[in-house]
Amino acid sequence: MALPAEPWRVHAARRWETLGPALRAQLSGAAPLRCCWRLLRPEDEALLRALCGRRGAGKEAAAACFYRQAGNARFRRGDFAAAAALYSKAVSHAAPGGPELPLCFANRSAALFRLQHPQACLEDIERALGQGYPAGLQPKVLLRKAECLLLLGRSRDAAQALSVAESRVAGDAGLTGGARRALLSQIEQLRAQAREREGDPAPVSAALDEAREGREPLEENSDLPGASSSVSLSFDASRGRHLVAARGILPGESLLSEEAFVSVLNPGERLLLPDGVETTWDTSIANEDLYCHRCLKPLLASVPCRGCSYAKYCSQECARLAWERYHRTECALGALLLTLGVFCHVALRTVLVAGFAEVSRLVKQAYGNDQEFHGAETGRKYADETPNSRSGREGPCEKGESPIPGCDGRGQYQTSYQAVFHLLPHAEKHSPEHKFLCCLSVVALCKRLQEAGLEATFLRQGSPESQRKGEACETVSAELEVLGEAMLRHMLQLQCNAQAVTGIQESGCGDGTVVNREQVRLATAFFPVLSLLNHSCNPTTSVMFSGTAVTVRASQPIPKGQEIFHCYGPHRCRMGAAERRQRLLSQYFFVCQCQACREELGSDITCIPSTTDTFCCPHCQASMQGEDLLQCSSGACALAVSRDHLSGRLQDLQGRVRRALELLKDDKLEEAVELLLMCLMDAKRFLSPKHMLMGEIEDHLARGYASLGKWQEAARHLQSSIRVVEACHGSSSVEMGHELFKLAQILFNGFAVSEALRTIQRAEEVLSVHCGSGSAQVQELKQMKACLLELPRNLLPRTENP
Ligand SMILES: [Zn+2]
Ligand SMILES: [Zn+2]
Ligand SMILES: [Zn+2]
Ligand SMILES: [Zn+2]
Repeated sequence: MALPAEPWRVHAARRWETLGPALRAQLSGAAPLRCCWRLLRPEDEALLRALCGRRGAGKEAAAACFYRQAGNARFRRGDFAAAAALYSKAVSHAAPGGPELPLCFANRSAALFRLQHPQACLEDIERALGQGYPAGLQPKVLLRKAECLLLLGRSRDAAQALSVAESRVAGDAGLTGGARRALLSQIEQLRAQAREREGDPAPVSAALDEAREGREPLEENSDLPGASSSVSLSFDASRGRHLVAARGILPGESLLSEEAFVSVLNPGERLLLPDGVETTWDTSIANEDLYCHRCLKPLLASVPCRGCSYAKYCSQECARLAWERYHRTECALGALLLTLGVFCHVALRTVLVAGFAEVSRLVKQAYGNDQEFHGAETGRKYADETPNSRSGREGPCEKGESPIPGCDGRGQYQTSYQAVFHLLPHAEKHSPEHKFLCCLSVVALCKRLQEAGLEATFLRQGSPESQRKGEACETVSAELEVLGEAMLRHMLQLQCNAQAVTGIQESGCGDGTVVNREQVRLATAFFPVLSLLNHSCNPTTSVMFSGTAVTVRASQPIPKGQEIFHCYGPHRCRMGAAERRQRLLSQYFFVCQCQACREELGSDITCIPSTTDTFCCPHCQASMQGEDLLQCSSGACALAVSRDHLSGRLQDLQGRVRRALELLKDDKLEEAVELLLMCLMDAKRFLSPKHMLMGEIEDHLARGYASLGKWQEAARHLQSSIRVVEACHGSSSVEMGHELFKLAQILFNGFAVSEALRTIQRAEEVLSVHCGSGSAQVQELKQMKACLLELPRNLLPRTENP
């Protein structure tokens, strides 16, 4: 998804094979883009057009109608959440001003009403009425409006809506007598309710909760806005830029708090249909339907872009800001950006947000003056031995430049285009084939920008001097070259500097007593301050996102003067040193020298169970080892089984666990639990007790039992799941925190007071470090604790008494 769609990647690789040695040499050089402008052929563009055609991002009235009817079918079955999601798809496909859009909004308002979201329902009703909802259908919608207003405590507004409804009924000659009487009697009933509640105080809004989720203020660092004064920025040849503790730091302290320079929502699976499949209107829901495309808030009732069916926002305000900052240009490119992948999209959005003047200034500074830029290759030198992958120096320091790259004239380093631009692209380390793919993609994008006349709009916005008339054609192509150069740089930077923005997706067990939290990848972003942190396989920080903002906290005590580390992905709890180093080298181009790696490689003992050896002996539980033929490692059993056989069993088991999960979702709890118990028995016969699937089965069982109100069984299975999580992620990991939180909820609901209190304490300790003591989860734990402590003694179960 980060890279372009597979057929385009394959096509580019084939083209690379056919290039002559001279061209290949040029492409391997420091300025590969220059020779690519004329390499884009009509057949390349034709392929891209075909790929885009499979996944249109335009408005389509027939699709809107299809999704609305699919929503109606779900609505009739009482599945209002699915209906609302389908109506949202319909809303996105309906053209503004057309007859379909108001119908879609009105239908969605009905689903939102049933889902008990009166405020969102009200907004959709206003949209439907504002878009010309047919007068004959209005009375019903106005009655719904009055009901929402009553729920929100706005009885006077409700009475007014009822008067409008009444006049519509009176003015509608097409109504039969029966229908008219029914409507009028409903109006009377609601009017009576409105009169009754006239004096009631308005309900308290949820604003307090939202404020609590906000970012904590930092004791600001004047050289490094966004960082706390407890850290300082350092630079040396071996480590590049890095952050150091300016004083002793305690676990849980906030170190950085940064808003992404740009972020692009990951569209989610299912977008790229396999070869030969015609475009169909897909009713499945992916990331792109679930989160605001600008601020990443979960979507309830999406506001569609007026121009395309792809972009969706949480509010009119987000839609407006996105349009002003970047979507004005991106809107017409929707399908192309989806085909070229998220990295290409981030690269484009970065230059759009930066503005042409700033892009041009930095490109010219980095690649020499105008003449050099358009002339011979600039013999740039890259720092070769920079162990840190993200932030080093490319070549010697220039006169008047701050000694630390990316800092502005005052020596400040902050979230800016300047800082993004100075992240290392490692241009010389990427394979020439990869660079060719990036070049070809960037050129294709630039060409589309030019054809659509979009680059002219963008250029005019960014730099007033390019508004000169009469020289448009020639100057634009030179300026487009600057843009292309910058976008290529960003695409190459992203391999090492892309930060995945994650969010917590919650799925309850129906009644809301126990909530499952799962981390999902939402977007890809540039965080230039976060990028200052070097990698360690045993990091000293924990990273949390709230929308497009990141907060970094210390996860361990960090003594004064010590470097602060963050983990780029390969963590010592999840894989062995050899595998971690291989991954870091291939993606980030450095050999990890962190303490964990040094210790592990020096000691010769593989204390971490490899994720590939997952099977155990059914007789003695020792691990099964070997290549194609696995043997019990204890030596006593003489058991040998083929790897294929065990892999087949594992696949079969995974299938059954998935089926059980479906049953859980459909509320067939007893059936699900029965199937899961059988899966567990089977799993114990051949899977290592530390296998993730083992933990998952136990976790699902806990969920099933909790939904059945069998708290003891639920707690027992969750404790088994927690042992697996602890083995895989460590006892103070955020994953462990989420599991402990679930266990606390189960014990709380099951009235196991002293055990609940102990678990709440542990969960609070772990989660405060990762999420901060003000986070919603920690607050909820505190409330549970207070509630348990207030219980009168005689209410406690007897076994709990000391
Ligand atoms: Zn938003
Ligand atoms: Zn759009
Ligand atoms: Zn390491
Ligand atoms: Zn054995």
